[in-house]
Amino acid sequence: MLNLKDPSLLRQQSFIDGEWCDADDASTIDVINPATGERLGTVPHMGQAETRRAIEAANASWPAWRKKTAKERSTILRAWNDLMLANADDLALIMTAEQGKPLAEAKGEITYAASFIEWFAEEGKRVAGDTLQSPWPDRRIVVTKEPIGVCAAITPWNFPAAMITRKVGPALAAGCPIVVKPAELTPFSALALAVLGERAGLPKGVFSVLTGDSKAIGLEMTSNPIVRKVSFTGSTQVGRILMQQCASTIKKLSLELGGNAPFIVFDDADVDAAVEGAIASKYRNAGQTCVCANRLYVQDGIYEKFAEKLVAAVGKLKVGNGVEAGVTQGPLIEEKAVVKVEQHIADALSKGARLMAGGKRHELGHSFFQPTVLADVTTSMQVAGEETFGPLAPLFRFTTEDEVIAMANDTEFGLAAYFYSRDIGRVWRVAEALESGMVGVNTGLISNEVAPFGGVKQSGLGREGSVYGMDDYLVIKYICMGGV
Ligand code: ADP
Repeated sequence: MLNLKDPSLLRQQSFIDGEWCDADDASTIDVINPATGERLGTVPHMGQAETRRAIEAANASWPAWRKKTAKERSTILRAWNDLMLANADDLALIMTAEQGKPLAEAKGEITYAASFIEWFAEEGKRVAGDTLQSPWPDRRIVVTKEPIGVCAAITPWNFPAAMITRKVGPALAAGCPIVVKPAELTPFSALALAVLGERAGLPKGVFSVLTGDSKAIGLEMTSNPIVRKVSFTGSTQVGRILMQQCASTIKKLSLELGGNAPFIVFDDADVDAAVEGAIASKYRNAGQTCVCANRLYVQDGIYEKFAEKLVAAVGKLKVGNGVEAGVTQGPLIEEKAVVKVEQHIADALSKGARLMAGGKRHELGHSFFQPTVLADVTTSMQVAGEETFGPLAPLFRFTTEDEVIAMANDTEFGLAAYFYSRDIGRVWRVAEALESGMVGVNTGLISNEVAPFGGVKQSGLGREGSVYGMDDYLVIKYICMGGV
């Protein structure tokens, strides 16, 4: 088993209404270490009835939670942040075991995850309304912001802690209870957060984590009228289903969905910086992030030079079990993910792409895959239109700025985009022309708690983190004060 300093952080039960519990029918799901195939343990396979109970408990906890002052809520959230940081080594070990990312990345994610709790602990104190100029002499207009009510969140496996705190932080700070269903592949990170939340003093019911049948839990979360808001991070396909399900009760919805990020390198770029950015953006988490560079467009003049340097940098990546020292790329999350990368490579090669590095399953077996680079990739290949979600960098060639902008925008997605250029006029033009919610200029890493994370087009609705992230959990009330 895992060598944790605090073994009580690894829980194999769900946390509902302040109680650790099993599924009503005692059924469970196995949790597997993708690096070894070893079974780490089990979590309850819960369904609709348990979800309903968690939602009802959240509703019961709401009046007392919203009545607390923002500062009182903030104090608890800060304690939670501190506990996450104090237990970062254990939380990272749990994450690497169930998700596969290298330990250093896992620890980075814990710090990132805690930063949302800290940030919203502070932001909660700054929620403010307005008084407006009244058109009537005897009446006054006051606008207040109130917590929306019981929230539900469904989160993915690629960031097992941060995708939870990015939703739970603003919900709790705003005065809303929240019920979370983590991905079935990575539930232990979520349950460990619940252990620490309880220790930090979160009252029972305000934060529940339940594991199990995603369809049944999702259906209850999206159709139960008590739930006022659903926040989802995951695929566009599931986002569509949840949006439809939420229609019956007109729930407020935040969606962080798929991306297909273009990464553009212009002739005037600092090539070494662009290579470094491409490595960070493409191969972090083995290419399994929704803001990963998916399509690399390189201008004619530096195409071969960039390809050569990228291949050299990729050669330095070390694939292995994330707990081993020096490993920079862990396994993919599961076999299905490997098959998709293989398909994209086979399709590209059959249509004329050139294999520059990798291209195959890694000799370590399981779901390890070689960091791969393909050159001479064209828009007719599968990889141009679909998110690979794996360690594959496809290099497209382009000649003009207009041409590359058209190619970059030729997708239903619009989450992140990156480009490298040192021409100030071009920097503005291209940043404005890209259809995406986030743009990295001369950098491959853009996420932090201060900046608004979110997409346009079919990449989603709403923004997480930042001063804007609180709005999704608040509703506006207009009070007209007469008889003045
Ligand atoms: P990915 O696995 O590509 O991250 P998914 O959208 O499949 O994306 O998964 C994200 C989250 O959505 C996970 O927690 C998963 O269990 C959940 N999920 C998958 N299908 C459904 C569904 N039909 N209803 C509700 N949640 C779902």
